[in-house]
Amino acid sequence: MLRLNEIKLPLNHAEHELKDAILARLGIPAEALLNFIVHKRSYDARKKASIVLIYSVDLETTDDAGVLARNQRDVHLMPAPDMEYKFVAQGVNVRGQQPRPVVIGMGPCGLFAALILAQMGLKPIILERGKTVRERTKDTFGFWRKRELNPESNVQFGEGGAGTFSDGKLYSQIKDPRHLGRKVLTEFVKAGAPEEILYVSKPHIGTFRLVKMVEAMREEIMALGGEIRFEQRVTDFDIEEKNGVRQLRGLQLASGERIATNHVVLAIGHSSRDTFQTLYDRGVYVEAKPFSIGFRVEHPQSLIDVCRFGPNAGHPILGAADYKLVHHAKNGRAVYSFCMCPGGTVVAAASEPGRVVTNGMSQYSRAERNANSAIVVSISPEDYPGHPLAGIEFQRRLEEAAFKLGGENYNAPGQLMGDFVAGRPSTEFGAVIPSYKPGVHLTDLATILPDFATEALREAFPAFDKQVRGYFKHDAVLTGLETRTSSPIRIKRRDDDLQSLNTRGLFPAGEGAGYAGGILSAGVDGIKVAEAVALSMAAADKL
Ligand code: FAD
Repeated sequence: MLRLNEIKLPLNHAEHELKDAILARLGIPAEALLNFIVHKRSYDARKKASIVLIYSVDLETTDDAGVLARNQRDVHLMPAPDMEYKFVAQGVNVRGQQPRPVVIGMGPCGLFAALILAQMGLKPIILERGKTVRERTKDTFGFWRKRELNPESNVQFGEGGAGTFSDGKLYSQIKDPRHLGRKVLTEFVKAGAPEEILYVSKPHIGTFRLVKMVEAMREEIMALGGEIRFEQRVTDFDIEEKNGVRQLRGLQLASGERIATNHVVLAIGHSSRDTFQTLYDRGVYVEAKPFSIGFRVEHPQSLIDVCRFGPNAGHPILGAADYKLVHHAKNGRAVYSFCMCPGGTVVAAASEPGRVVTNGMSQYSRAERNANSAIVVSISPEDYPGHPLAGIEFQRRLEEAAFKLGGENYNAPGQLMGDFVAGRPSTEFGAVIPSYKPGVHLTDLATILPDFATEALREAFPAFDKQVRGYFKHDAVLTGLETRTSSPIRIKRRDDDLQSLNTRGLFPAGEGAGYAGGILSAGVDGIKVAEAVALSMAAADKL
């Protein structure tokens, strides 16, 4: 099997042109090409009127070695890498002498940790504080419609984790030499995701499909002997200390039950603030880490499409256009776009009463009228010094201020972009109607943001107009606040066995522990940590 990269064809090429291009590049007749599949398809839209598709294909010929030898000069031709996932251990704990491993949290990290453990025959127990994805959907949509927040069942908590009501973007910039991202995508396809996520350069799934996929993965884990328990909040960690070594021995649940275990995957996401506090109180090593704050910005999707794709706007292969923006402000802060949701909606993402948090989601079709993206400013522990958990208090203060400014009824405070930059409150929407439910209350967002953030954001919007023409639009709507961009803490782990720096048996993982940022990277981290658990249990088997 060979891989051939950088096959460039016009956007509207006919189907046979791809095969023709492969034959021409390899200099072989049609009968010598046995088969090929598209490994990746991306596009180059720098010239809007003549957008180019770029393919990478895996192919088989009647003489791969000969083709490779004759095309030595083509740096884009190579043997196809083996991307199949291989388990690191099998047959571990078969006699059940060790307690079962436990996974806390059923977001993408916990889901993949549990799946891999189950596929390795380790029969994990999964504890999730929220409800099943169907029940959770009702609670979350109920909050958006009726302003009734359930602190245990919402955008952040419940089966599927934080990314369930999302755009379902499935790409990441992590280094992935073992192709673990491929394993994540392959499992998603098995669970019902469209096959195209395996080859398009920026795959996404959208909310409704994610719900069904999460259910399918739950079924597989259970069929393999895993046990999934919903509405089971972990409230404490039993840590035994002997000769200076701290070893996790069990977990306490809100129900009063205790579960004995020596191996726990801690995949609790970035919003489990009560659990962060408990971990800190129990002496688990945590430290403050940088994150970002800002707001969601909504433009008409058509403006972004035309700006990015010109006359090709609306082309089905291109879909709704996205953007990626960065501005380095004079005050030293980086302002950047984050979690862009083309053709999507802004959502209420709070998990604590009396606080307002924004985020974004979309459906697979990305057909809603507005493009939204978080525009955020980087902040670091120097902005909230003192305590490892001080970032959480910083977030809480901002979220409370947003709740008050929005009218204390879960409306989010909002402002027109032109007014924000000019420093005056907004009173009336223009052509852009915000999508956030329950509603947006127009006001002056600068009154609740730290001055450095306001300053950097005011500078960034006009600068972004140079990158996306039309971006600095007077009536684009800003809705705030976006505070949960990533975890405000890192629960540090050792590089070699992925266990907590000072607590053996505890495997901090995913976004909450500071080791992932997004669905794909959280899934990949879940796989890595499941492997580390399996290896640790295999070692204990031998003792
Ligand atoms: P989480 O998904 O947060 O899961 C943690 C789970 O642990 C939760 O289900 C929680 O209920 C459970 N839990 C917490 N504490 C306890 C406890 N004490 N006991 C038991 N259970 C507990 N990323 C992308 O890549 N693409 C996107 O398009 C995208 N869109 C997003 C849209 C929204 C609205 C949001 C909120 C996030 C989005 N993200 C997106 C980010 C992505 O969802 C997260 O990076 C990802 O979910 C992190 O995975 P995780 O498994 O580490 O944590």
